Formats: sequence, structure tokens, C-alpha cells
Amino acid sequence: MSLQENLQDIQENILAACNKAGRSREEVRLVAVSKTKPATMIQELYAMGVRDFGENRVMELIQKAELLPKDISWHLIGHLQTNKVKMILPKIERIDSLDSLRLARCVDEEARKQNRVVSALLEINMAKEESKFGFFEEEVFEALAEISKMKSIQVQGLMTVAPFVEDAESNRDIFRRMKKLSVDIMKKNIDNVHMDCLSMGMSIDYEVAIEEGATEVRVGSNLFGKR
Ligand SMILES: *Cc1c(COP(=O)(O)O)cnc(C)c1O
Repeated sequence: MSLQENLQDIQENILAACNKAGRSREEVRLVAVSKTKPATMIQELYAMGVRDFGENRVMELIQKAELLPKDISWHLIGHLQTNKVKMILPKIERIDSLDSLRLARCVDEEARKQNRVVSALLEINMAKEESKFGFFEEEVFEALAEISKMKSIQVQGLMTVAPFVEDAESNRDIFRRMKKLSVDIMKKNIDNVHMDCLSMGMSIDYEVAIEEGATEVRVGSNLFGKR
């Protein structure tokens, strides 16, 4: 399969999932997860109109950003070490994986020094997997109370990396709980906290995630091929 065929397939599946859920296609954004893949492949997808790319390593993102068109929106989707915050901020529009208060404090301070406001998604570890980063569901409100006071971070929503499963249906309940959590947060009308974005669903389960309310899906291997 070519990149173009893969992209077309995914676009059709996204549309079908939107239709099934009675949602408009415009509500869902595809983030192409290009980690480990060469800049030439990103360039090919760019030529087909893709503008959102996700990377999980700071140095790799920076190197690719330097080679590629400036109107690409780079999403940092992996764990960010505090010592790399300073160098990554100028390259990205949003941190999709704000996974601790310590990191939030560091991002806030560095963004202030760079005289900008950084958008972020709070990463939630729904299944409490030890191998994963992120806030537990029950920690979210306390964390938001503090992050909402940080003037240089604007929370735009939530993100989760669901468990690795064989069958997408196994993650439906997690996606449903994520959606509910975002609605609960929205209802609280917390200053400086928006819930416009719900980033969930990957190659294996993005259609189920869309049915449950994802506004953003992050697809890697189904688009680029196996890593
Ligand atoms: C790698 C990765 C993806 C994409 O995973 P695929 O299964 O290849 O689609 C999505 N989100 C995050 C955070 C990732 O690290």
C-alpha cells in the first residue's frame, strides 16, 4: 500500500465513523504520527494536504521541523523531560502530553521567559498503567486547580494513550469515560481551561474513539506502515 492509499483509507474510515456517530467530519482532526519515519514521507503527506504531525522525541521533532515546511503543526505527543522544555517550545504549537504538575510548572516558567502562551492537553492515564505517564482520573481536578493559575499555559483539552489491545471494542469504555471526564471539567467552567479537544484513538482503535467523541485521532502505523 502507498502512503496515498493509506491516507485515503483512513480518511474514509474517519468519515464513516463520523457518519455512524452522527458527527460532522469537521469535528475530527487527523494527526499523522511520523515518529521514526523519514522527513521524505512527511513531505509526501504534506503534498497531499496533511498539516498536523505528531512526534514523541524532542530532537527528532526539531530536526524534522528544520527540514520541512514552516506551516506544519507539530504536536509533541511523548513524555517531555523538563530539561528539553526550553528548546522545544519555539517549535511547537501545543504539547499534547502534559503529564505532571512538575512539567506544567516548568513549561509555564519557560513560556513566560519566551513571552508566549503554550497550549496543552492534559494527558490522562485512564487504565493506570505503570508503563504510562499522565494524571489519574481522580487527580485531574486538583491538577487543573493549579494549572489554571498558570498564565503561560492554556489547557485546550485532554489526551490519552489507551491500553494496547487486539480488539478496539475493549477500549470503548475508556473513551467513553474520557468524554465524560471532559464534559465534567467543562461544566466546572474553570478559568483558563477549555475542553475543545479530546485527543484519543490510534491505529487500532481510532474509529471507536471517534464514535465516543474524539476530536483528534493520532494515527501512525496504519498510515506510515510498521515501525
Ligand atoms: C506512536 C503513538 C501513536 C500512534 O500509534 P499507532 O498505533 O502507530 O497508530 C499515537 N499516540 C502516541 C502518544 C504515540 O506514541
